[in-house]
Amino acid sequence: VIHVASCEMCGADETLYKTTIEGSDLKVCRKCSGFGKVISVVREPVKVKPKKVAALVSSVQTQDPTEHIQVIVEDYAERIKAAREKLGLKQEELAKAIAEKESLIHKLESGLFEPPITLARKLENRLRIHLVDQHEEKHEKASKSGSASLTIGDVLTMK
Ligand SMILES: [Zn+2]
Repeated sequence: VIHVASCEMCGADETLYKTTIEGSDLKVCRKCSGFGKVISVVREPVKVKPKKVAALVSSVQTQDPTEHIQVIVEDYAERIKAAREKLGLKQEELAKAIAEKESLIHKLESGLFEPPITLARKLENRLRIHLVDQHEEKHEKASKSGSASLTIGDVLTMK
């Protein structure tokens, strides 16, 4: 659909009527439409429908591009050991307190076994320490800055 902003006969900038004048369809103003037979009113071109804009904005807002990643702190072994000793607990006692094996506590404190988040949370609660870091990854930002810093050559070699 081609929207014409002004009358095809006199150039008037107003509401246009699709009018058959001498066998051809023209979009003309009210005055000029008197020369032929009006078929329909030509609507002014609507740039953006407000309803669509609102829907688009809300969908962007509800779509959270931030991903929360939980990561065990690097020095979990020292933290667990220090907290346990501060509380005056033996490895065995701590193991019992969180319903785990003593050998597991030993591995944790030796840094041989990185606790899964659920176990880390148990230790956090029992020892009143911080073991889980929450990282926020904004994918939108990351991808934007990432692509901006890439040259065409980089993109090609990545394939
Ligand atoms: Zn006109």
